[in-house]
Amino acid sequence: MIVKAAVVNAAGEDYTLSDLTLSEMQPDEVLVKMVASGMCMSDETIRKGGTSSVAFPVVLGHEGSGIVEKVGDAVKGFKVGDQVVLSYAYCGQCPSCQTGHPSVCDDWMTLNFSGVREDGSHTFHKEDNTPVGNFYGHSSFTSHTLVHQSNLTKVDADADLRLIGPLGCGFLTGSGTVINGLKPEVGSSIAVFGTGAVGLAAMMAAKIQGCSTIIAVDIHDSRLELAKKLGATHVINSKLEDPLEKVKEITAGRGVNYSVDTTGVSPVIKTALTVLAKGGVIAPVAVSRNNIEINLTAELTMSSKSMIGVVMGDGVPQLSIPQLVKFYQEGRFPFNELVKFYPFDDINQAAQDSAGGSVIKPILIMDESYTASSVK
Ligand SMILES: [Zn+2]
Ligand SMILES: [Zn+2]
Repeated sequence: MIVKAAVVNAAGEDYTLSDLTLSEMQPDEVLVKMVASGMCMSDETIRKGGTSSVAFPVVLGHEGSGIVEKVGDAVKGFKVGDQVVLSYAYCGQCPSCQTGHPSVCDDWMTLNFSGVREDGSHTFHKEDNTPVGNFYGHSSFTSHTLVHQSNLTKVDADADLRLIGPLGCGFLTGSGTVINGLKPEVGSSIAVFGTGAVGLAAMMAAKIQGCSTIIAVDIHDSRLELAKKLGATHVINSKLEDPLEKVKEITAGRGVNYSVDTTGVSPVIKTALTVLAKGGVIAPVAVSRNNIEINLTAELTMSSKSMIGVVMGDGVPQLSIPQLVKFYQEGRFPFNELVKFYPFDDINQAAQDSAGGSVIKPILIMDESYTASSVK
């Protein structure tokens, strides 16, 4: 079948909307008609050639939502017409997967970044038969895609697919870092550095978890205003105020119990560690090539602080995504405040607006005719 996809032909090039051939479906695959897809910072990093692990040409996108159109014979648990959110692929068999940590699946890089299926074949081809790589085992910047069952999370028939694609990556990462990674106690304090999609999701999750002091740190007042609206009890503009001093003041000199860095900027990560109270835990979640230097004895051991890695929110997408949908429907996870919708054809404009910071989470609409049953 012919699909309409946004192809990046070489590092640094714009997206080109092209007709591609979608391969024959394999027995363990599901054909999904895309409704919408969020754009994530990692799509932009890869489009610009920021990693050598993804080959071009490629169809990017990994925060999609859509409707099941056809189900392979070996697939269980999905049927035609199901509403689904697309997330990363995992093997389901390795020790990490079997203990509930598929985001550190042994085969994660191969399944998500190799651009091909497990048997080495491509799902997308150009008219002249040039193979085009997929991304995260599926690619969501397309009208239709073939995915492995592990990529799919079924959501309720009344969930609004236009909105919820980004629950498959950015918002999953931010919320899961807090809910599954830091697991703050009710009444504890947390500081979140950087108020993009991941940081704001971390903050909303901190509120859900019952943190009573939630401090947002950023350099843009407009973002900090939004943070306040979404649950920050305190905000710090680190261009104008010293976050170390300010956090001390807010916490009666003790520091915060938890911190999250979403910036990946070395001095900011260092600050996020320093603002911790004794026994505090920091989760640096930005994908960054930057390093920090710390004196382990003085800065970790003597104050019993910890630094933990949490990737993709360390949850099982099939459990976490429906939970986030529910939190949203209850008004406790208002991520709709952070999105802006674009027609699929405007993908380059959406990428530009996101990179420039004027839009937190662009969502591309592939199927303009879709209306959620809850808003019909
Ligand atoms: Zn695995
Ligand atoms: Zn992402």
